[in-house]
Amino acid sequence: MMNKRYLVALDQGTTSSRAVVFTLEGHMVASAAQEFPQHYPQPGWVEHDPADILSTQIESLRAAVRKADINPAEIAAIGITNQRETTFIWDRETGVCLHNAIVWQCRRTAPIVDDLIAKGFGPMIREKTGLVADAYFSGTKLKWLLDEMNVRHRAKKGEICFGTVDSFLAWHLVEGHPHVTDATNAGRTMLFNLHTQEWDDELLRMLDIPKEMLPQVIDTAQVIGDLREDLLGVKIPVAALVGDQHAALFGQACFRQGDVKNTYGTGCFMLMNAGEEFRLSKSGLLTTMAWRLNGKPTYAFEGSVFMGGATIQWLRDEMHMISTAAESEAVAASVGDTGGVYLVPAFTGLGAPYWNMYTRGTLVGMTRGTGRAHIVRAALESIAYQSRDLFASMARDCGIDSMALRVDGGASANQLLMQFQADLLNVPVQRPAVLETTALGAALLAGLAVGIYSDLQETASGWHVADTFAPHMDETTRQEKIHGWRRAVDAALHWAEER
Ligand code: ADP
Repeated sequence: MMNKRYLVALDQGTTSSRAVVFTLEGHMVASAAQEFPQHYPQPGWVEHDPADILSTQIESLRAAVRKADINPAEIAAIGITNQRETTFIWDRETGVCLHNAIVWQCRRTAPIVDDLIAKGFGPMIREKTGLVADAYFSGTKLKWLLDEMNVRHRAKKGEICFGTVDSFLAWHLVEGHPHVTDATNAGRTMLFNLHTQEWDDELLRMLDIPKEMLPQVIDTAQVIGDLREDLLGVKIPVAALVGDQHAALFGQACFRQGDVKNTYGTGCFMLMNAGEEFRLSKSGLLTTMAWRLNGKPTYAFEGSVFMGGATIQWLRDEMHMISTAAESEAVAASVGDTGGVYLVPAFTGLGAPYWNMYTRGTLVGMTRGTGRAHIVRAALESIAYQSRDLFASMARDCGIDSMALRVDGGASANQLLMQFQADLLNVPVQRPAVLETTALGAALLAGLAVGIYSDLQETASGWHVADTFAPHMDETTRQEKIHGWRRAVDAALHWAEER
């Protein structure tokens, strides 16, 4: 390990493939990204061309190493992190995919899910997988592919492989074509039993999926094999597979029960380390893997805000109230508060803890004096209110009051939003120096697998807080604001009820 100085993360996302080179201390050296086309064959359907995924991932790896200007022989290990749930099937003999990948956002299997729910499978799915039966997860996508391509008989003979993005990349990038997935990715298929840590026969029967086509489930940090030598000219161990949100939780060093991170992107993803015991949330949060290390699972609660940064995009693109997302901060800061205005951006319904798909966007509390700045501020604050709802639910379900919120993602650049978030939660909001927490998490996990770090504590030494936003809102104001938000959500829910 003497001459090993770098770790590399491959971050295969929904709109682009990226690669990031880090030092062993977790500092970013260089990164490269390549976008690829999205395919929408029908309304509500979303696909990726597997060849695009592979070529953009390989190109970005080479570009990042070139930019870093390092000798590839100095790379200690590579970790792969990925968009979750997106579903591939390929021929075991040739490696050729039988169909485009069906992307997590794709709604084509909603009728299959409706049917499962009508047949009463919902509670069993929830109890075994920690998920809520939904088309989002891979299981029904795989069933659809088997039905549509009429290849179940071949799958039974082991001639066809299923995989999520991590499996697909491992198969194509690692010598010897391993057919593997890690527990965080397996946990998003609706086929994996979080208690036994194995594929579940009852779930497989429910969707008529042959076990012979499933990848072997491995630990999140585990050496899989060497990177294909033709890619960088040397052998480098590929040593971690991890879903993107789980990688971010790890990259934020959320190693203790109750540690929580929120990623403010298009949507917001909040995950809390829920410890080593499987528990179901009472607020409709998902239970998912945090990671599995040395065969030992750590669980997490997960909740998402559908309209996070997307609310700011809406202000920009539909309302024309701002010209850039960053401008939202100055406009919002031009007024001291929203003047009693609340925006509930339930454009596509509300998730946990409300779970109402019929709610729609609602703007309440306007007066003759309400102006653009108040509405922009209300939009920014709505991201913080929705995140607070998740945070409070997690604290309740976990029985632990978190002492801080760790943040990342594009909209975490907004100081006003971060300060308001801290004020609402009444705990400090911590923004780390490396905001590429997803890539960092995958790199650190790979480092752990090859022995660069001896334990989690050592791994965490790469995580540094750059900015802390301390709460300084008084309790009365905080409670008033939260009460106002609840009333606004009630108004939105009530409007949906009268439908
Ligand atoms: P994703 O990974 O989902 O594409 P990013 O992490 O790149 O998202 O964040 C982009 C989102 O953050 C966009 O929705 C954008 O509107 C929002 N955003 C970016 N910068 C700011 C800012 N300074 N203030 C508020 N929102 C922002």
